[in-house]
Amino acid sequence: MIQLIMKKIILVTNDDGIHSPGIGALMRAMEAIGDAYMVAPDRERSAVSHALTLHRPLKVEKLGANVWSVNGTPTDCVALGIEKLLPGKPDLIVSGINRGGNLGDDITYSGTVSAAIEGTIFGISSLAFSLVIAEPPGARPDYGAAGHMALRVARFALENGLPYDTLLNVNIPNAPEEEIKGVRFTRQSKRVYHGAIHETKSPWGEVHYWIGGGRPFWERGDDTDMDAVMDGYVSITPIHLDFTNAGAIDWLRKKWNGDGFPIG
Ligand SMILES: [Mg+2]
Repeated sequence: MIQLIMKKIILVTNDDGIHSPGIGALMRAMEAIGDAYMVAPDRERSAVSHALTLHRPLKVEKLGANVWSVNGTPTDCVALGIEKLLPGKPDLIVSGINRGGNLGDDITYSGTVSAAIEGTIFGISSLAFSLVIAEPPGARPDYGAAGHMALRVARFALENGLPYDTLLNVNIPNAPEEEIKGVRFTRQSKRVYHGAIHETKSPWGEVHYWIGGGRPFWERGDDTDMDAVMDGYVSITPIHLDFTNAGAIDWLRKKWNGDGFPIG
């Protein structure tokens, strides 16, 4: 049987910036399975969520045959990569490997996950990868095992595709591969930070506020993303782009008193 082997086009991006070690590890992993192209922010853009730059032009700098840096957001990078920079429509979009987990409600802030959201909106299989670095915060990140896991998940997505409107959010413990116990398919947990706003003063005595740190509180549950990584497993959560709470439509119908406004 003659088998046509077409090399897959893979777009690699992140929110930690083009010079972060995590995106280097992800790029090397993707080069093993396809034609990998890196389009990434020229500096760290963590926690920009799904921001799109509308009010200034974007500058693109070619740093290598398959590498472009953009003075914009992860979402800008995905849009530019798909529409302008890559030689064809990507078969796969991968984002990360983020320095730090994207668990629970963190994903709503995450530029890493939002890049995968943008890819999913374009109808392309998209994956977000994050390295969960446990306390203390200064622990040294090791992207070796995460790179291998990214390769496995990317192969899976290329072979099977993904369900409609769905991306995979992958969180990998910061541990040697032999210490990772396996994979759990999980749901997004609740994670809230307290005490994350710090008051500081400028040299001129003005009060400023600095958001960061804080104590995370999370919902526990065997089936959650958080529990999986706490137990030493890779967490893979399928994330659906449709945020609609379908049951709440009926709740609204029942609770809404009309007030002279007809319900259709
Ligand atoms: Mg980041």
